[in-house]
Amino acid sequence: MENSTHTALEPALYVVATPIGNMQDISLRALDVLRRVGLVAAEDTRHSAHLLAHHGISNKLMAVHEHNEQQSAQLILQKIQQGIAVALISDAGTPAISDPGAVVVDVLLKHAVRVIPVPGASAVTAAMSATGMPNHGYLFHGFLPASASQRKATLQALAEQAYTVVYYEAPHRILACIKDMREVLGEQRQIAVARELTKQFETIYRGSLAEVFAWMQADENQQRGEFVLLLAPKQTSNADADLKQAQHVLSILLAELPLKQAVKLATEITAMKKNQIYELALKMKQDE
Ligand code: SAM
Repeated sequence: MENSTHTALEPALYVVATPIGNMQDISLRALDVLRRVGLVAAEDTRHSAHLLAHHGISNKLMAVHEHNEQQSAQLILQKIQQGIAVALISDAGTPAISDPGAVVVDVLLKHAVRVIPVPGASAVTAAMSATGMPNHGYLFHGFLPASASQRKATLQALAEQAYTVVYYEAPHRILACIKDMREVLGEQRQIAVARELTKQFETIYRGSLAEVFAWMQADENQQRGEFVLLLAPKQTSNADADLKQAQHVLSILLAELPLKQAVKLATEITAMKKNQIYELALKMKQDE
């Protein structure tokens, strides 16, 4: 295995993902890196000391939270320039995903310091993987604004997205947030709620905004914990959806095949007629 415990770690910033609940959700490589770096930069050193102890690791910790990220970035830069390998972790999941990290990484890259991702858990990918929401692309927004008016404005701005839109939300705002979603996006828009992923009360619930609001309002327990909300794109008519699919299929085929062959295959793959596909392909070629 490259970078075995017997070789020194290259001085660099290792951006290490940690669990989002279940302590076992950490990679062998992440544990190896956390053991062998000279310093672990953590969002909350007490919280992270607990994680390290759970895995039998004792290492030096320094605090990096959003209020001191610039300062911490300079300190981390100095350490790495002195030849020390540094790991960056957040309280849960992947750093820089609705968490501190991006500023440190940006500063280091600007100083041509190597940044090495050590990937693992993130609530957004766990939620996308287990809710079955349309996945031909998704837009990760993270936290919505705390004020109701700004929250509604953000929801409105993203209402027509063709992709599943993923939000993080805190328990004290969860009901108000779903209520606002219902108001802005309509009763029938489909949503998945992914609550307490990888933890004891893990819950995945899907339905229309009206159904999900009623379900959550009826049971206070469902308002506790950590949440990922995944909003399906607005339903389009079948004809629109067929056209979008044909465009997508043709864009892939036309990049590799002559027009005639691309049209033949696209007709077999999609629900549209051959002459419609042919016209669409011609138009796409002209627009290139
Ligand atoms: N860096 C983290 C990541 O990679 O997902 C996100 C950190 S952000 C400060 C915390 C938010 O992520 C929570 O408020 C919640 O919306 C979401 N989250 C984190 N852990 C979760 C879990 N186990 N289940 C559901 N959502 C979770």
